Amino acid sequence: MTNLVGKPPGEIQRELAPYCDLPFRSRQVAHWILQRHAVSFDEMTNLPAELRRRLQQLFTIGDPELVEATASADGARKFLFALDDGASVEGVAMPEDRKLTLCLSSQAGCALGCRFCVTGVLGPGRNLRPDEIVGQYRVMLRATGVDSDRVNIVFMGMGEPLLNTENLGTALEVLCERVSPKRITVSTAGIVPGIRWLAGRQRRPKLAISLNAPDQDRRAEIMPISRRYPLDELMREVRSFPLERGRRVTFEYVLIRGFNDAESDASLLVRLLAGIPSKVNVIPLNEDPEHLPGWRAPDALTVDRFGRTLAEAGLTVTVRWSRGRDVAAACGQLKGRRDVSNAPTPARPS
Ligand code: SF4
Repeated sequence: MTNLVGKPPGEIQRELAPYCDLPFRSRQVAHWILQRHAVSFDEMTNLPAELRRRLQQLFTIGDPELVEATASADGARKFLFALDDGASVEGVAMPEDRKLTLCLSSQAGCALGCRFCVTGVLGPGRNLRPDEIVGQYRVMLRATGVDSDRVNIVFMGMGEPLLNTENLGTALEVLCERVSPKRITVSTAGIVPGIRWLAGRQRRPKLAISLNAPDQDRRAEIMPISRRYPLDELMREVRSFPLERGRRVTFEYVLIRGFNDAESDASLLVRLLAGIPSKVNVIPLNEDPEHLPGWRAPDALTVDRFGRTLAEAGLTVTVRWSRGRDVAAACGQLKGRRDVSNAPTPARPS
């Protein structure tokens, strides 16, 4: 049966047209699924009962199965989803003031192997389909009971979204039916052609770059993708990314003790970002002795000094002690339900 979740309005209407006597009926169904996040045809009370019965026999409205939801002491909630082929992914819901930020996964694993990230250490996984991406949003929205008007979406979960552009594009089209692109952020480890693809979208979400080092050598050491797309090429692409009025590029910078946390590194970062309307998220490493043995976060004083150096140079800086650490829901900690016993141990950065 065809799943209607993850399909844009035009496609839902095309699928349904042969079974609806009146053209507006298919628009009604699309509205129920995209705007009201219906999970069954029974909810669609403005449709004739006979049509609902018929559609139920032909289509499904299927989200990924929610296996587990774990609440952190800081209010973040981690959701584990089982996919139909046995793969699993995680998403995170983080309440903040009156808003809710939903962090979605785009792949069931990640091939990029960033050395500070548990998802990367555990290795590659397949691309998620549009229904699996949009489904995470739908399930987390229902579970939290928050209205979509108050939701921000960030693609910072498992996987590299810009290596899954076809499905991401469809998912964005669907998500933008309810959430403004201004409130959606796609974060990339630096896939240059993917950034170009994002730049060309009509309903363009915000761009975030997972930067993590102020120079090419160190970046390539902890982010192998930087050998393919070197820092100067990446920054050229970022500089030409179209920014609507008031928008900025977010740069995420995971601070690792003794590797990239010196004041001189902050000064290099200031130079690197000169002239780009930017916001820097400084994220002290989420330590994971099991998967990232020997890797440490800097102490609070060092973190503070690093952030202050950036701020004094005029950059907008947020120091983000990650949410959900106690339930392994923080940045770089997501792993789905994978067997980690044979995962390689990453070498410490030199
Ligand atoms: S940080 Fe992102 S791109 Fe790098 S390995 Fe982890 S999930 Fe993949």
